[in-house]
Amino acid sequence: MTATGYVRRTDHLGRFVIPRSIRRDLGFEDHQPLAIGVDGEAIVLEKEVPRCVICSAPATKEFAGRSLCADCLRGLIELGRSR
Ligand SMILES: [Zn+2]
Repeated sequence: MTATGYVRRTDHLGRFVIPRSIRRDLGFEDHQPLAIGVDGEAIVLEKEVPRCVICSAPATKEFAGRSLCADCLRGLIELGRSR
């Protein structure tokens, strides 16, 4: 972890503002979906990445409104050809 020197207090609902410079440096857009993780006692915020509906790997393609990774998409195509 890289210390930034920023310290923020949460409000009564647990909210806080991520400093603009950090959001800008990390390429966060307004209304950026964030995945919230925990690493020991640290809270980890990451840009949410669409996940494959079959294997949960990062998705690279979308078909019929569903996200798929390249491996699963390739597997489905091969399955279709084998019929
Ligand atoms: Zn997959």
